[in-house]
Amino acid sequence: MKENGKLFVISGSSGVGKGTLLKELLYQHPDLKLSISATTRKPRPGELDGVNYFFTKKEDFELAVKNGEFLEWAEFNGNYYGTKEAYVRKKLSEGKNLILEIETRGALQIKEKLPDSILIFILPPSYEELEHRLRGRNTEDEETIQNRLKEANREIECSKQYDYRVVNDDIKRALAELETIINENINK
Ligand code: 5GP
Repeated sequence: MKENGKLFVISGSSGVGKGTLLKELLYQHPDLKLSISATTRKPRPGELDGVNYFFTKKEDFELAVKNGEFLEWAEFNGNYYGTKEAYVRKKLSEGKNLILEIETRGALQIKEKLPDSILIFILPPSYEELEHRLRGRNTEDEETIQNRLKEANREIECSKQYDYRVVNDDIKRALAELETIINENINK
């Protein structure tokens, strides 16, 4: 029987550059597989069902919660997001190393159920920098920005319970640190 794969959970506030880091990491590590979550949010332009998310109706999601199908799930910005337990266990038992890109409430549920999972949080260099990056998007009104900042603060507080915290001050440096963490844990 093959050895179980490793489960990495990556979180980070919006605007922290987590998406770019993950994209680079997956590009350089074909041995890592990004887990696909279920969500009740509507697809954004270009997003595909079964690729970016399993786009799910609210009643179907609620039924799956009731049936205990989720390893973790959480409500975020008025939508549900969750990771199916059968999906994760299957990939891990096939020896695949999985990455879950999820928010903090879900991440802590995973750690409780699977203590061997490795939790990594991507931090902004400073609060001022995060605010600057969020405002730089120029697409949101003040209330939305304030809400995102409040949420970011809550998540940063939560990240004290993570195994690793990586500051994204410079993409190359942060990527190298992330790779060291991944390699160390894969080879354990
Ligand atoms: P977005 O709607 O921008 O794709 O994602 C919003 C938030 O939901 C992000 O913080 C993302 O990490 C989180 N998320 C995505 N999938 C899951 C999941 O399966 N479970 C949890 N708890 N959060 C998720």
